[in-house]
Amino acid sequence: MDLYSSVKELKGVGAKTQELLAKIGVYTIRDILLHFPYNYVLYPAPVSISEYEEDTTVALRGRLAGKPYLKGGRMQTITARITDGDVTLPVYWYHMPYLRATLHVGEDYIFYGKVHNKNGQFVMEQPVLFTEEAYAKKRTSLQPVYHLTDGLTNTTFLKLVSQSVQFAEQMKENLSSEIRTRRNLVSYKEAIVGAHFPHTTEELFAARNRLAFDEFFQFLLKLTLLKEERSKTTCSMMTPERIITVSKQLPFTLTQGQQQALTDILGDMQRDVPMQRLLQGDVGSGKTIVAFLAMLFASQNGYQSALMAPTEVLAMQHYEKLQAFCQEHAPFTNVYLLTGSITATNKRKIKQALSLDSSAMVVGTHALLVDDVQLPNLGLVITDEQHRFGVHQRQILTEKGSLPHILVMSATPIPRTLAIILYGDLDVSMITSRPKNRLPIKNCVVKQSYRKTAYEFIRKQVASGHQAYVICPLVEETEGMDGVDVISYTAHLKSYYEDAQIPLRVECLHGKMRPSQKNDIMKRFANKEIDILVSTTVIEVGVDVPNATVMMVENAERFGLAQLHQLRGRVGRGSSQSYCIFIDGKRGGKVNPRLEILNKSNDGFYIAEEDLKLRGPGDIFGIRQSGELDFQIADIYHDASLLKDASWEASNILKEDPFLQKEEHQALRGMLNI
Ligand code: ADP
Ligand code: MG
Repeated sequence: MDLYSSVKELKGVGAKTQELLAKIGVYTIRDILLHFPYNYVLYPAPVSISEYEEDTTVALRGRLAGKPYLKGGRMQTITARITDGDVTLPVYWYHMPYLRATLHVGEDYIFYGKVHNKNGQFVMEQPVLFTEEAYAKKRTSLQPVYHLTDGLTNTTFLKLVSQSVQFAEQMKENLSSEIRTRRNLVSYKEAIVGAHFPHTTEELFAARNRLAFDEFFQFLLKLTLLKEERSKTTCSMMTPERIITVSKQLPFTLTQGQQQALTDILGDMQRDVPMQRLLQGDVGSGKTIVAFLAMLFASQNGYQSALMAPTEVLAMQHYEKLQAFCQEHAPFTNVYLLTGSITATNKRKIKQALSLDSSAMVVGTHALLVDDVQLPNLGLVITDEQHRFGVHQRQILTEKGSLPHILVMSATPIPRTLAIILYGDLDVSMITSRPKNRLPIKNCVVKQSYRKTAYEFIRKQVASGHQAYVICPLVEETEGMDGVDVISYTAHLKSYYEDAQIPLRVECLHGKMRPSQKNDIMKRFANKEIDILVSTTVIEVGVDVPNATVMMVENAERFGLAQLHQLRGRVGRGSSQSYCIFIDGKRGGKVNPRLEILNKSNDGFYIAEEDLKLRGPGDIFGIRQSGELDFQIADIYHDASLLKDASWEASNILKEDPFLQKEEHQALRGMLNI
């Protein structure tokens, strides 16, 4: 048995488990070792009963206040009261009747679990029971938690890791001892063992550091090794003056940042090597108009251009806006929409038109990539919200045309120095200024009891001609999940506003709707035929309805900060004052510190940084917050300095051995899979 043996050689793996493991991409012992935990449970210090925090995992020290009571029936419920002398708390166990025999009145125990509010009363359900000694022992180690699949438990997987860990010996070291010493990195073997079974947080950090370094290092080497010499393009373009003229006829003046980006792009497109540029700008900074102007430049030079969006909703919106833009500035240019939900007959027609119309513009989702769309005269490809597209997909699209110019647009806030390293293959333009007419968004973080006030506030905003979004975490009522859902919320709001002289128009939007329904709702919202849109996060990226001035997020504590920042970006897109109301769905007094960060700042970069500071050591394997560039462990914010180190080391190696051909670099080259 060795590193590459099948998992079925391990004790306890039958056909069924093998199948489950395959589902998560684990086939060999090596795969097991490389399937890292995403979190670690740190057992908290025991506290007395009065010190619990609602819905937070705690270890309560207490004893039984009386004999536990077993209620038979289907649930086999044990009811007990626990006390620390001052406070008592009801505790329930279900389906564990045997537990009653082990519970002794008068003895101290640790009750590990969550306290929550059940029908107005605080209770603890199904706590794990420990003796004082057993719990103390638990606290000396960090328990790994793995991303698995239904039917495969953490305990089962942990047993497999325990059996596999001896083979970590056989993992090849691919960093020289020189680099390891210089960067203070543990060996690869140590890192793997330490990631699964850290004894201390220091050990965990050391393991993680090494693995994150490897990710960056290998990514950067690959980036450089695969970076092609830019060959000559036939799509070099002329007379940018006409585009500059159009840019001055817009309903607004371009900001300094937009103008600079436009200058960069028009400059690139006039050269005879293909543009490869990243346009970075926080939500609402106005990237779309820059993209439209670049597309216009292509079409005026007789080239086709394609704009790709990550969602159908966004593609549809771009299509509508681009059409209006062309009607005004280029009435002879045709704009096409190509998404997954267009009927086969229509698709055929559009494809045919695209193969003939040499200066067409096309907007689409990935359908543009997978289909056999012919764009024989493609001169420019733009991907919006680039983090949803991989480098690979970009490649496929490039292959459709004759080396088109490429522009990728992203709202992920990232400092320039890091962008230059991470997008080593791209030139970077950044829009740092916001349009002048914008007022900073006013934020508040409130509890559910504030809802009524919020509803009345929305009523006033609507009366003055504005619109609102309400975001819910769930689509429909879901068993076992509490949280607000779009379907019932819409009904609730409809009836709430029914009494108004003109009832408010409330509609819903969510991912389970058919694409044509979604598009219809979005169009009606954009046309002001809907006052309040109750939605899931399907509107998270890109949606632009400047008349909307209120964003209310229910169960805001459920969302990531980056996501909430994106959602907030849906308002504050016009000249009116906009508002963002984050409802903290958790009962109890304390203000959620994460939401407080959003409350304080509208700056995406600041938010990303502050978010990190709040995370505990147990979270560090699961911190990736920007879907950008698929790193499993490394995080571009948290590991910024590691990224710089890796960048230095990568160029240092390539200086000596540009194609990694030397003997001592073979292990490393093997890791790169190229
Ligand atoms: P994002 O960068 O998030 O993609 P958009 O391109 O959607 O932002 O722009 C947000 C809104 O700002 C749009 O309604 C757009 O018309 C408007 N806008 C863009 N540039 C300016 C500007 N220079 N002045 C005023 N409004 C602008
Ligand atoms: Mg956008």
